[in-house]
Amino acid sequence: MNLHTEISSNKRSDGAGGRLLDKVAVITGAASGIGKEIAFSFVREGAKVVIADLDQTAAQKAASEIDPLGQRALGVGMDVSSEEQVESGMAKAIEIFGRLDILVSNAGVQIVAPLVEFEFAKWRKLLSIHLDGAFLTTRAALRQMYRQNSGCIIYMGSVHSKEASPLKAPYVTAKHGLIGLAKVVAKEGAAHGVRANVICPGFVRTPLVEKQIPEQARALGISEADVVKKVMLKETVDGEFTTGQDVAEAALFLAAFPSNALTGQSMVVSHGWFMQ
Ligand code: NAD
Repeated sequence: MNLHTEISSNKRSDGAGGRLLDKVAVITGAASGIGKEIAFSFVREGAKVVIADLDQTAAQKAASEIDPLGQRALGVGMDVSSEEQVESGMAKAIEIFGRLDILVSNAGVQIVAPLVEFEFAKWRKLLSIHLDGAFLTTRAALRQMYRQNSGCIIYMGSVHSKEASPLKAPYVTAKHGLIGLAKVVAKEGAAHGVRANVICPGFVRTPLVEKQIPEQARALGISEADVVKKVMLKETVDGEFTTGQDVAEAALFLAAFPSNALTGQSMVVSHGWFMQ
């Protein structure tokens, strides 16, 4: 991809600085929703981002929206549950941008059904995207971060990393699992200057959530308005959705944190739903 062959300069093309000046970030699932917001905010703060998403065309489209000049955002097709695709996508990212400072393991899906009816294939699919995806991207990132002796890994957890809801067995299981993975990375990575943390958002109106509203209404036998009010936002302090920008702000805070003091932790960003 020749677009990116001249990205070695130390300054942003517009000359501005930023909290992540010339840091290189890989963000999975960044063609849409929360990941895309994070990519926008990282580029605004001077980073170079790799948008790694299942759909290469969507990843490239998001990259050109985020950086029309084509120098600070690169779209890469990557199924995070495929070892081969993660290895080649991460290698391409590192080759083009020359290093890797931040991994945001964010790609995810939601599948809702009562546990007693949950199809095994769907259970495996969800766990594979969330957990295999986090493991595979982490392993590839750590190899490079250990060479550099620094790095920051952010996992996209959820309030469901701490709390359960009916109909979401594999999602709740996977999101709890990410906290375990982050703690191990924090312990193993410390000697190599690598820290790892989890962001746990409340509901954000992305395509992932829009799809769930009618599904949950059907499964619970209530109206879509009640799914929003009485299920999704019931436990918040103010009845408000969290936004993608809220989550991006938390990601920026973690990515720009200046020392290794903040590691192995999880941060809930949810309008007060689930207070730790
Ligand atoms: P989204 O559907 O808008 O975006 C998810 C992205 O992940 C899509 O671009 C999709 O193509 C990509 N993706 C799916 N499977 C993939 C795979 N196998 N490989 C690579 N990319 C893949 O969803 P979102 O709401 O932005 O969710 C992003 C993350 O945030 C997920 O991990 C989700 O669980 C988490 N989260 C979302 C909410 C919410 O309310 N929206 C709340 C808490 C946590």
